Parts: sequence; structure tokens; C-alpha cells
Amino acid sequence: MSKFYEETVTYVHHWNDTLFTLKTTRNAGLRFRNGEFAMIGLEVNGKPLMRAYSIASTNYDEELEFYSIKVQDGPLTSILQHIKVGDKLLVSKKPTGTLVLDDLNPGKHLYMLATGTGLAPFLSLARDPEVYERFEKVIVVHGVRYVSELGYREMFEKALFEDELLGEYVKDKLIYYPTVTREPFRNEGRMTDLMKSGKLFTDIGLPPINPSDDRAMICGSPSMNKDVAALLDEFGLKPSPRMGGTGDYVVERAFVEQ
Ligand SMILES: Cc1cc2nc3c(=O)[nH]c(=O)nc-3n(C[C@H](O)[C@H](O)[C@H](O)COP(=O)(O)OP(=O)(O)OC[C@H]3O[C@@H](n4cnc5c(N)ncnc54)[C@H](O)[C@@H]3O)c2cc1C
Repeated sequence: MSKFYEETVTYVHHWNDTLFTLKTTRNAGLRFRNGEFAMIGLEVNGKPLMRAYSIASTNYDEELEFYSIKVQDGPLTSILQHIKVGDKLLVSKKPTGTLVLDDLNPGKHLYMLATGTGLAPFLSLARDPEVYERFEKVIVVHGVRYVSELGYREMFEKALFEDELLGEYVKDKLIYYPTVTREPFRNEGRMTDLMKSGKLFTDIGLPPINPSDDRAMICGSPSMNKDVAALLDEFGLKPSPRMGGTGDYVVERAFVEQ
């Protein structure tokens, strides 16, 4: 039996020349927890060419959604970026991952800290009503280099608040904080600097991160993850243990540096 479901692409949207979103059909047998990743890919020269991808849709959605980088010489994404509606996509049958609600201690505020396509798991979690049932405030911080890399900005600024189902949950709870490092924007700089200086907390009107109230999920480049985790340690938060159990924060890489 194959390890993969063969899905059909239903939607493709190019945000700019480095980022795109695709949606596919979803096999009724595919179960996952919001925040998890699957292996997705294409058959190339008769063999599956697969890469890890966070599932950006929620487990109650009928379709699957993925938010992807375009690496010009990347084995998968140099091809995947040309995918069209009606094409096939392979999706592994057993999603997994560490960015799940159940691995966090209870708290008041949940910080979702992402750079680049590290936003993908939080696209799922930020559309999960349970997140808003468990936390009083949900803060999505998205760090990018250029404004054009703020994919899903409209969703976080408007669509979620107008959504028939989610509007009630996100109202008064969801805070979106995009920040840009290489061109002028309303929030500028690296999220670690904005947290160290306290500017981020002043801007969103919450006290600095502390272990009694705050929980966090981190998803970015390996170096961003390291820097943010070190800062959360300084704030007194405890990482979730590798071998199971809960913690104050969880981490997943958005990609692997080769
Ligand atoms: C747990 C996990 C979840 C992931 N989820 C996603 C996701 O939701 N969306 C996504 O686009 N990618 C995601 N990735 C990365 C993905 O697996 C591939 O690396 C990416 O699709 C590029 O594939 P490739 O074969 O074209 O190039 P690769 O050979 O895989 O990568 C080539 C180089 O490109 C750079 N790179 C790769 N991916 C990224 C990225 N996302 N952002 C910035 N630089 C990158 C790295 O320097 C890497 O060494 C995830 C990786 C992991 C480990």
C-alpha cells in the first residue's frame, strides 16, 4: 500500500516571486492535529520527491492548504512553483509535529512567533476555535524581510474578524503583529530585538512575556528558533520536554539549512 495519498490541486495563488499558496483535495482518511506537518511532493523520474510541509488548513477543513517558498534551484520547489489546478500532489498519510496545543501548559496568552513560511502552522492554529477557548489573547508575530512577504496579511487584519464562524472567537482575542526588517513599515526590526527592547509589548498593550501568563510556539529558520528560544528562556519560560509532557513553549523548524 502506498505511503501517500494522491490529491488534486484545486487552487494556486502566487503572493510574489518567492511565495505561493496551494490547496488540494483532502482524502477523508487523512487525520491530523492543527499545527502538524506532512510530507508533500511530486513524482519525479518515477520516484516520489517529498519535503516536509506544515498543513496551513485546519483539521475541520475539507481541503488541504500549504504555504510555500520558491527556492529557484530547490529540487522540489523549482518544479512545485509551476503546479496548476488539476495537477496531482502526493501527501503522506501520517502527519506529525511539535506545534500542538496539547504540549503547552495552560496560560492566558499564546504567542505564535514565525518568520517567513514559518507562519504556515499558525495559519492552521489561528483558525482553530479551540485556541481561543484556551487562551484570552492570541498574538501572531510574523517577521519578514520585505512587505511583499507578508502573505495572509489580509486574512489576519480583516477576513478572520468577518468570518461567520471564527469572527466571534477572534474578536477581542487575536492580535496580529507583522514586522519587516529591510524596508519601512509600521513595525520594523527583528522580533527578538522588539521583544528585548519591550517595544513589541508596548505596541500590543500587554506586559512583557512572563512564565505565569504566557505560552509560545516558535517556527522559523534554525537560527531564528535558537535566538527566540534563548530569549524565552531568559523570560523564564520552560520548553516542552522532547520525550513528551507539556511546557511553556514548543518549537519547530520552518526548514533545514543545508
Ligand atoms: C518540519 C518542517 C516543516 C516545513 N514546512 C514548510 C512549509 O510549510 N512551507 C515551506 O515552504 N517549506 C517548509 N519546509 C521546508 C521544505 O521542507 C523544503 O525545504 C522547501 O519546500 C524547499 O524544498 P526544495 O526541495 O525546493 O529545496 P531544499 O533542498 O529542501 O532546500 C534548499 C534550501 O532552501 C532554503 N529553504 C528551504 N525551505 C525554505 C523555506 N521554507 N524558507 C526559506 N528558505 C528555505 C534552505 O536554505 C535550504 O537549504 C518545512 C521543513 C520542515 C523541516
